[in-house]
Amino acid sequence: MSEDNPTPGLAASAPPSNIAYRTALAQFDEAAERLGLDDGMRTLLRLPKRELTVNFPVKMDDGTIRTFTGYRIHHNVTRGPAKGGLRYHPDVNLDEVRALAMWMTWKCGVVNIPYGGAKGGVTVDPKALSRAELERMTRRYATEISIFIGPEHDIPAPDIGTDDQVMAWIMDTISMHRGFSVPGVVTGKPISAGGTQGRTEATGRGVSITTGEAMRWMGGQIEGAKVAVQGLGNVGYHGACCLQELGCNIVAVSDSSGGLYNPNGLDLNAIMEFSKEAGNCTGWPEADSITNTELLALPVDILVPAAIEGQLTEKTAPHVKARLVVEGANGPTTPEADAILEEKGITVVPDILANAGGVVVSYFEWVQDLQFYFWDLPEVHRNLERIMTRAFSEVASVSERQKVGLRSAAMQLAVAQLAETVSVRGIYP
Ligand code: NAD
Repeated sequence: MSEDNPTPGLAASAPPSNIAYRTALAQFDEAAERLGLDDGMRTLLRLPKRELTVNFPVKMDDGTIRTFTGYRIHHNVTRGPAKGGLRYHPDVNLDEVRALAMWMTWKCGVVNIPYGGAKGGVTVDPKALSRAELERMTRRYATEISIFIGPEHDIPAPDIGTDDQVMAWIMDTISMHRGFSVPGVVTGKPISAGGTQGRTEATGRGVSITTGEAMRWMGGQIEGAKVAVQGLGNVGYHGACCLQELGCNIVAVSDSSGGLYNPNGLDLNAIMEFSKEAGNCTGWPEADSITNTELLALPVDILVPAAIEGQLTEKTAPHVKARLVVEGANGPTTPEADAILEEKGITVVPDILANAGGVVVSYFEWVQDLQFYFWDLPEVHRNLERIMTRAFSEVASVSERQKVGLRSAAMQLAVAQLAETVSVRGIYP
């Protein structure tokens, strides 16, 4: 590496316009600065290790051929196989996947599981495909990225727009190629195809565990706390249900069409039933209709953004009234919004800690698949709770010691740990 240009390539280019990647890089730069990493280490940890873009054809139901674009990116694989979800969404692009892959590296570090970070996806609206088209697209995409994935290399999982059925198709496709069943190639599978107990609700459960820890740490009480949840998908719905079990009052929820607010509380099961029929939650009769922006500004104790990135910005953050923000989604808060929330004295549990329950239980699933030995639900719950509470307490200690927010503390923990592993392994050759 030349002295004149210590940060070539991506690291030297102008900040990306993609909000998620700009956010991820700014968070990394802050941690690297605080840790005093030298330029060589900084560039190495900032850049994705390898990136795969695939353009591939799929035969549609009407006989036409449509070409899709997909990605799989490994941000870092120093500490173990790459791990991260697959997103099917019309906005999926290279920079977004780079950001999500980088966050996976730090997330696995914060909860101290032996994985590197990865992410993938296809630029598509899955709801606009028939089930047969979705299956053919998934199987072809799995084949295209099969040079990257495998139980020892890279283990995808569900994210926005993908679910256990998509994972089952990928597992089956890779198994057909290899000639034997390879359950460990993906996690988040149905239990009948080598999945684990407790994976579906794992991320939401992890969100509720970290919310409880954060409230205790702040000297507050979780019972009776009023909560608004943005995004009623896997993370948001299960997060809301688990928080309700802990005694919270869920007063607002939303999906991409808009939100619902009832200060006396919401019946989550009834809303889900209504959404399945109607296609979205808006119009459910026992609550006021609100916008997603209004949801972020409600008078609640806890706000859980659990939809997509870039929701708390310099425009929306000044209106947040919650005392605690728990990031169910990846990257919901921009760096500018982070500063505003800190100024307002609002505690933020960062994504890489708050939503790590999903990857923790994915790790349990992978371990079970490799051993062909399966755990019961209480064992999954016990181990998830143990890992999440330990991670929270380690992050909180750094935060207290250094008088920084939980995000800065979590990032420093994860980046320092990876830098240590790189140093101890040495630079090949
Ligand atoms: P999902 O597809 O199951 O649900 C997403 C929800 O967000 C849906 O209700 C959708 O309508 C809503 N939504 C989409 N765009 C929106 C917008 N602009 N405003 C408001 N709501 C909107 O996805 P998911 O798996 O629940 O993932 C949600 C977030 O959590 C993502 O950021 C994802 O990366 C992150 N995450 C997911 C997991 C997991 O295990 N699924 C793990 C860690 C992090």
